[in-house]
Amino acid sequence: MDRSDLVKESFVRKEVPAWIPAGKTSDYFGELVFDRKKMCKYLDAESLHALLDCIEGGKPLDRKTADGVARGMKEWAMEHGVTHVTHWFQPLTEGTAEKHDSLIDYDGKGGVIETFDGKMLAQQEPDASSFPSGGIRATFEARGYTAWDPTSPVFILDDTLCIPTVFISYTGEALDYKTPLKKALKAVSDAAVAVCKYFDPSVTKVYSYLGWEQEYFLVDEGLYAARTDLMITGRTLFGHISSKNQQLDDHYFAAIPPRVAAFMRDLEITGHRLGIPIKTRHNEVAPNQFELAPIYGETNLSNDQNQLVMNLMNRIARKHGFVVLLHEKPFDGVNGSGKHNNWSLGTDKGTLLLAPGKDAKGNLQFVTFFVNVLAAVQKHNALLKASIASATNAHRLGANEAPPAIVSAFLGRTMTEVLHKLLEVPSDTPIEIAGKKSKSVGLVEIPEVFVDNTDRNRTSPFAFTGNRFEFRAVGSCANCAGAMTTLNSAVAEQLIAFKAAVDQELAAGKKTNEAVMDALKPIIKSVLDVVCFDGNGYTEEWKEEAKRRGLDVETNVPKMFCEFTKPAAVEMFTKTGVYTQKELEARNEVKWETYIKKVQIEARVMERMALNHIIPAALEYKAKLLQEVTLAKGIYGNLDNCVTEMRILDDINKYVEEVRIKATAMMEAGKAANAIEDIYACALAYHDIAESFYDLRKPIDKLEEVVDNKTWPLPKYRELLFIS
Ligand code: ADP
Ligand code: MG
Repeated sequence: MDRSDLVKESFVRKEVPAWIPAGKTSDYFGELVFDRKKMCKYLDAESLHALLDCIEGGKPLDRKTADGVARGMKEWAMEHGVTHVTHWFQPLTEGTAEKHDSLIDYDGKGGVIETFDGKMLAQQEPDASSFPSGGIRATFEARGYTAWDPTSPVFILDDTLCIPTVFISYTGEALDYKTPLKKALKAVSDAAVAVCKYFDPSVTKVYSYLGWEQEYFLVDEGLYAARTDLMITGRTLFGHISSKNQQLDDHYFAAIPPRVAAFMRDLEITGHRLGIPIKTRHNEVAPNQFELAPIYGETNLSNDQNQLVMNLMNRIARKHGFVVLLHEKPFDGVNGSGKHNNWSLGTDKGTLLLAPGKDAKGNLQFVTFFVNVLAAVQKHNALLKASIASATNAHRLGANEAPPAIVSAFLGRTMTEVLHKLLEVPSDTPIEIAGKKSKSVGLVEIPEVFVDNTDRNRTSPFAFTGNRFEFRAVGSCANCAGAMTTLNSAVAEQLIAFKAAVDQELAAGKKTNEAVMDALKPIIKSVLDVVCFDGNGYTEEWKEEAKRRGLDVETNVPKMFCEFTKPAAVEMFTKTGVYTQKELEARNEVKWETYIKKVQIEARVMERMALNHIIPAALEYKAKLLQEVTLAKGIYGNLDNCVTEMRILDDINKYVEEVRIKATAMMEAGKAANAIEDIYACALAYHDIAESFYDLRKPIDKLEEVVDNKTWPLPKYRELLFIS
């Protein structure tokens, strides 16, 4: 073959893998979702209209409609070879839960027949006693039930029809992430509609939008299997950092390795079939770190899609010989993974409420929502931080690479100037779009589109980026619902309070725009003084400054959870109808329990690996060196030729003993913590244990440097972190 043949061959795609479908993405997008198109095709007119009333009007689903919908769904599902059905829900664990039931039932003639009716669609009673409930079910009722959420469409995964559901106890308490999220979305819609009426009386619904950016690592399946810590805890508990990691910044946006590209393509195709609008893929900052983001959508659906994507990622990665790591900090010394939650509000009339409007009225509406969001974030900054806190995200927060453990808001120069200006001018000054009118003294202007202002200040946990806020502190393996429920409820509470303030101004006889601005001014002043911060969030000075401003600077995760049951949070969540006090208390129990278990498992894996893998490997190398030294002494009569060996032996002795002492101490601390009955006190004790992980890790990472490569029992960072 001469060179021209080689070139020709490289341009000809010889073999298209079976998983790449023919045709355009738009041909197969959503083919496995029972969406509007399928509803129109498979449902009778009566069921269709009744179902749309449930989806759009929030009406409850009656049995007759459910039966009609189930009939159509069954027909569609059977055409796709479906044999099973499951209620797909989001308990308070990581990931989703499903229990599959086959469609068969006796036909009364000695055989079986496929059945699927409204009852199976609408409600299921999984044996739920093993899911975390914070004592709710133990105290009140042993069972829970799942009920279809018609606002999230049914989809097919493999041979199974998946029905997105809420998960509730028989006494009505939410046992999942979806139920409170839906309540928060209703609360923010109601509160925002009431405020929108000042500007556009035709608005009847406000949507909360979410666009998540999922970061993740890939590791080779074989290497993963050789790392007990990765397999059991999702992160490496030891490992000397690689000589080359991210210092050259050569991974971010670099060319995607072909093996990884194949995985991404497979994932995208699968996601597109399931109606997930996956849009962006790129290399992230750390080696082997990548990101995937969809086009944003309504928060409840977008969050379901994120849950589904996390599930698909794991399955598809395996197919390509990888394992996906969704842990926030799988490797020390390189960046961890987060999940930026891009969030905004928009009306049913198509107006984005966090983007400049078309005219002065639209701009005032924008500023109104913008400022009220900041006020909500300010009031509940500690709670918002608690909403993203977890044992795993703790490794990332405040670690000089990700959002600091202080929730402040970045506005950018333009909006900061606009807010300052608004404080100076009379309340009826129109806010114009820059460039539309000739500039005159005292005019407040904002650009129609934010260009360079949409910041790249990556140190801010809550940043305005032109038409949305980016809540960047959310962890990569988290369910976004935790953060989204808190944010939307806090904004709802703030908008309710704001409306009351405006109504008071109106009652005093002011015109709407003046009343709105007079109600806004004290809030603007306050947020500029407290929550708004455009500087570097990683510095020590900011920690001091934030404390002075009254922002929460707590870094202890179990302590952060206490925010959920403080009076301000209880009042906010009960007023907006999102959580009862009982639910908040129960959820905190779940949070502490999860925290304890996570740290407990990590501690146990660390101890076992230290004692059973690391120390024996070091002693094996030590024995080898001792043998050499003994031989040398026999030949030369002294140790003059063994200086290096003796130095290494000294190091091994020192570090091995350090490992033994620290691992034993950690075991004792674990035993003492386990004996603590109060769950919060126990979580605090485990927090101290987590803090001591580095003490044990240090001598082990030193041993990795000393012990010969052949004897070292674990794949090293340099192997784990570079896929070619
Ligand atoms: P970045 O430059 O911040 O990494 P990406 O393109 O990776 O941005 O992701 C931005 C995300 O924000 C996408 O999911 C996008 O759809 C979403 N997004 C854009 N506009 C809005 C909006 N108004 N509300 C919510 N999400 C939005
Ligand atoms: Mg991105």
